[in-house]
Amino acid sequence: MKFGGTSVGRPERMHQVKDLITRGDEPTIVVLSALSGTTNALVGISDALAAGDKSLAKERIDALHAHYLEFYPALLKKAPTQAKAEAIIREHFEFLNILLKISFNEAINRDILAQGELISTKLFYTLLEELEIPAVFLPALDFMSIDENSEPELGKISEKLTAILSKYPDGRLFITQGYICKNHKNEVDNLKRGGSDYTASLIAAAIKASVCEIWTDIDGMHNNDPRIVDRTRPIAELSFDEAAELAYFGAKILHPASIWPAQLHKVPVRLLNTMDPSAQGTLIKETVESRGVKAIAAKDGITAIKIKSSRMLLAYGFLRRIFEVFEKYKTPIDMITTSEVAVSVTIDDLSHLEQIIAELRAFGTVEVDRDQAIICIVGNMVSETKGAIKSVMDSLVDIPIRMVSYGGSRHNVSILVDAQYKIPALKSLNEGVFRW
Ligand code: ASP
Ligand code: MG
Repeated sequence: MKFGGTSVGRPERMHQVKDLITRGDEPTIVVLSALSGTTNALVGISDALAAGDKSLAKERIDALHAHYLEFYPALLKKAPTQAKAEAIIREHFEFLNILLKISFNEAINRDILAQGELISTKLFYTLLEELEIPAVFLPALDFMSIDENSEPELGKISEKLTAILSKYPDGRLFITQGYICKNHKNEVDNLKRGGSDYTASLIAAAIKASVCEIWTDIDGMHNNDPRIVDRTRPIAELSFDEAAELAYFGAKILHPASIWPAQLHKVPVRLLNTMDPSAQGTLIKETVESRGVKAIAAKDGITAIKIKSSRMLLAYGFLRRIFEVFEKYKTPIDMITTSEVAVSVTIDDLSHLEQIIAELRAFGTVEVDRDQAIICIVGNMVSETKGAIKSVMDSLVDIPIRMVSYGGSRHNVSILVDAQYKIPALKSLNEGVFRW
């Protein structure tokens, strides 16, 4: 069971989490995020230190410290556990304050980012102690690891975690941190922002759990972006493939990488709402019944690159050479469309855009369109449902379309539009493809 930042962000919410994890009797690993706002605050502290602005860093440390000094007396009621919490907070803020005196580097940055999950799990564990609920504290740094490419080492994680768990044959509740891990240099590292979901899915896969529950503050994945369109509804069931498409394309509820570990070991994933625990939520599993369009999502900040070359005509190996350029700069490609003499791709990581363009020029003319958005339409799009694509296209008659990718998988149609058309596209698709 994984609980996100808002689910632990207030003392009364932590009490709710306690209620939820003690309802059943299956042994449960509880993965917690940092309290909402904390990781952002830690990033701010790190940024100030990186910029050499110690007084700003100090100001930010003090502000975060004050937040915790208010948090723990509302969470805990008994003197001994309050004293424990005070000591936990003192230890972690002493650590942050020491960093003001030493020189900053990347490893220290990651140490700073790890503080949020360390504090939240320790405070929560102290709450369980106060309530005399037996639990085991499971430091994630003892078993979560990533390799030199920052990829989680699922095999090793499984081995280590299984060995640790075997020491507690009667253990019922285990409390651990999301997001944080050790890297190949044995330094503290993390699974990138939002990575607690990934932790939960990796753990679920590592121990072949019966289910991986992701508890957030919304009642499952919705069929469109509730921040943009008026009418949306939660999707009851999704296949792993459909969920992976949606998670990447902006459905902020789930970290995109968190699908594959669960999928690998066929562990069903449930998205549930801490604020409304009886809501059905979304169940993600191997196969589901599906017909027509199930959901729509969008992702901003996309750049399209078109490479045009008459040499591509009847040539082989051309795409490989183009892709190699992106590989060299570790830049993932999201969408591709090709014609006989041109290929368009999209990327969202612009860190090496200039170098990539310079190298692509060797193949032909290169055009770049920034500020694009991918609209992703997920469902059973290809074989069974005649006309599914028609309703999609009909909905978009007034919107200029830059790229269309159809048939790459049977779950997805992706459409690239200029960012200014994202909201109108989501709105008209919402009315055009769903039966309300
Ligand atoms: N606390 C981390 C973040 O805010 C990880 C997470 O919450 O999933 O990104
Ligand atoms: Mg999250």
